[in-house]
Amino acid sequence: MLRWSFSSSEKIIYLTFDDGPTSEITEWTLQILGKYHAKATFFCIGKNVEKYPNITEQIVTAGHRIANHCFNHDNAWKSDAETYLNSVEKTQYLLECFQKNNTKLFRPPYGKLTYKKVKKLRQNNYQIIMWDVLSNDVQKKVSPKKSLQTLLKKTKNGSIVVFHDSIKGSATLKEVLPEFLKYFSELGYEFRGIE
Ligand SMILES: [Zn+2]
Repeated sequence: MLRWSFSSSEKIIYLTFDDGPTSEITEWTLQILGKYHAKATFFCIGKNVEKYPNITEQIVTAGHRIANHCFNHDNAWKSDAETYLNSVEKTQYLLECFQKNNTKLFRPPYGKLTYKKVKKLRQNNYQIIMWDVLSNDVQKKVSPKKSLQTLLKKTKNGSIVVFHDSIKGSATLKEVLPEFLKYFSELGYEFRGIE
């Protein structure tokens, strides 16, 4: 029911960026991805999409996938099913103004869900995308060096890797993402958005 990674038969890595778009780091992220011909999935917060329509448009124009991360970065353990679903649906409506897709991709903020909400999301045709590799770019206690070490060690064929294009993660992202892209490009990997 939840997707944690993809098939390991090809050298493909699925990059994901959560919590944007933001004016601080999203455009920089697009630039560096472009340099490596890398495509990614951006799990956007609905209210940020509303605040930064131009940046959202830039993500789409650059060929990336935009996906759903709730309107207010809602915590599924703290909100009732109706409020939560409304937050997801409102975000989806906004996203579809920028990009039409046959599939609806959703990632729960904080990775938190409940059985009831998973059921509701499935009923509404959402594919729930989790991850198998965390960059820990938003963790203050994790240095950029440590973050990169973990990324290089854990990422493998078909991995879904989490970064953040948020203010909080920006300092680490700027150090780590170029190194990560360089390393795996040289190993012949391709970076793709989730279909
Ligand atoms: Zn998030």
